[in-house]
Amino acid sequence: RAKDALTETVCFYEVSMDEAARSRRLIANDLWQAVERNELQLHYQVQKAVNSGETVGYEVLLRWHHPVRGTIPPGEFIPIAEECGAILPVGEWVLREACREAATWNSDHKIAVNLSPVQLGNADVADLVQRVLQETGLSPHRLELEITESTIIGDKERALNTLRRIKALGVTIAIDDFGTGYSSLETLRAFPFDKIKLDRSFMSEVEASPEAKAIIRAILALGQTLRVPVLAEGVETRSQLDILLSEGCDEAQGYFLGRPVPVERIRPGGTASEAA
Ligand code: C2E
Ligand code: MG
Ligand code: MG
Ligand code: MG
Repeated sequence: RAKDALTETVCFYEVSMDEAARSRRLIANDLWQAVERNELQLHYQVQKAVNSGETVGYEVLLRWHHPVRGTIPPGEFIPIAEECGAILPVGEWVLREACREAATWNSDHKIAVNLSPVQLGNADVADLVQRVLQETGLSPHRLELEITESTIIGDKERALNTLRRIKALGVTIAIDDFGTGYSSLETLRAFPFDKIKLDRSFMSEVEASPEAKAIIRAILALGQTLRVPVLAEGVETRSQLDILLSEGCDEAQGYFLGRPVPVERIRPGGTASEAA
């Protein structure tokens, strides 16, 4: 009897694993067509200077409106896109669409586009960035690419090479979700970053945890020493913003400053100059 129960458990487990795998396959299939079917949309989330409150730029965040499943969050479909390779066409679409949009703005606000490790591992990505900038006419200094530390855990030499080529175009590089990876300090030393994005987990704990606050201070000091500005992610309250102000943090992003929204909401009257 115990054995029967065990068998049942094992079978059930296998079935649900199958289900998960099946669902991933279905999503992967649909993803390949999502671009052509016009199911992808970009949202923009404002990034502001902490002391002046001025808008510095916008992070571009991908949304997928699936005809049957509804809106699927990027946390769910990006990993699948990376696994099945669809991240290459999807990522290219994001880059081109965001650059094309920003080129029409009557402002010098930056756009920050997330770059997947899979894209960075692809030899052609620097060429792609150059081509898209030419096509859209966006000034290179208005484009920032966000990469996470995990991006660089693979083939470091290759990643470094690609980053150098991208930077040579005049595009800047931000390190995303900083403080959550394994090799933070070594990565910072070896790679040519222009901005540190402090992971939002520190913000959510800053008021309750002296340790979180101490880590934020240490990273701000590091940024100052390396002369790299620090942006705090996930700022949800006025008091969190006040802490950042008193600690001397350069930039901030989060629901308190503005949620990710479709582009119409950041360019009233057709320009983004008075956005958010
Ligand atoms: P990320 O690059 O770290 O983006 C920030 C995420 O935090 C976004 O989630 C944003 O909506 C969310 N966020 C912003 N402010 C707050 C806040 O105050 N509180 C909380 N709790 N969350 C906040 P989202 O849009 O779901 O994206 C999740 C992740 O998916 C992104 O993390 C990024 O890694 C990835 N992603 C999104 N778009 C793209 C894309 O076009 N290409 C690639 N490769 N990855 C993307
Ligand atoms: Mg990001
Ligand atoms: Mg982030
Ligand atoms: Mg993140």
